[in-house]
Amino acid sequence: MEELKEVISPKELRRKVKDLAKTIEKDYAGKPLVLIGTLKGAFIFMADLVRNFKRKDLEIDFVRVKSYGSSDSSSGEIVITKDIELALEGKEVIIVEDIVDTGLTIDFLLKHFSLHKPKSIKVCALIDKKERRKVDIKLDYVGFVLEKGFLVGYGLDYAEKYRHLPGIYEVIKK
Ligand code: 5GP
Repeated sequence: MEELKEVISPKELRRKVKDLAKTIEKDYAGKPLVLIGTLKGAFIFMADLVRNFKRKDLEIDFVRVKSYGSSDSSSGEIVITKDIELALEGKEVIIVEDIVDTGLTIDFLLKHFSLHKPKSIKVCALIDKKERRKVDIKLDYVGFVLEKGFLVGYGLDYAEKYRHLPGIYEVIKK
C-alpha cells in the first residue's frame, strides 16, 4: 500500500494556473495560438489553463506518448500512440506538459512537432522536477519547481489511480 502526502494544494494550483494563463495571454496577445496537451497526465491542467484564458482565438489538440522503461521512469524510447490532428505550419504552438522529469519526452515532442514547421514552439510545464533531468531543456512557462518525489493527483496517476484528486500528492510507499 501507499500513503499520499499533499505537496501542492488545490488552492495553490488554482492561483498558479491562473497566473500562467495570464502570462501566456500577455505574451501571445493578438496572435493565434495552438495548445497541445500531453495525455493523459496534462488533461486537468490543460482544462483549467484554457478556462482562465480571456481570448476568443485558441486551438486545442492532444498528443499521447508511450515511453518504455520502468513504471516510474522513461527510458528515452518514446513512441506516439495518438498524434495531433491540427495543422501546425506557420502557427505559434505551446506544448502543455504535466511534469518534466528526465526531459526525454519533451525533447522528443519538440523535435517531432518542429517537423510540422510551426512559427514558434514553446513549453508550458506545470511541474519542473529537477533531480533526474537527462536533457538540457528550456522550459518557457513553469508552474512549480520540485526536486524529486513521485507525484499523483490533478491528472497524474500511479498505476492509473489518483488522477481525479484535486491537489498534487507525493506517493509514500509503505
Ligand atoms: P520525462 O520524459 O521528462 O522523464 O517524463 C515525463 C513524463 O513522465 C510525464 O509526462 C509523466 O507522465 C511521467 N512522470 C514523470 N514524473 C512523474 C511523477 O512524479 N508522477 C507521475 N504520475 N508521472 C510522472
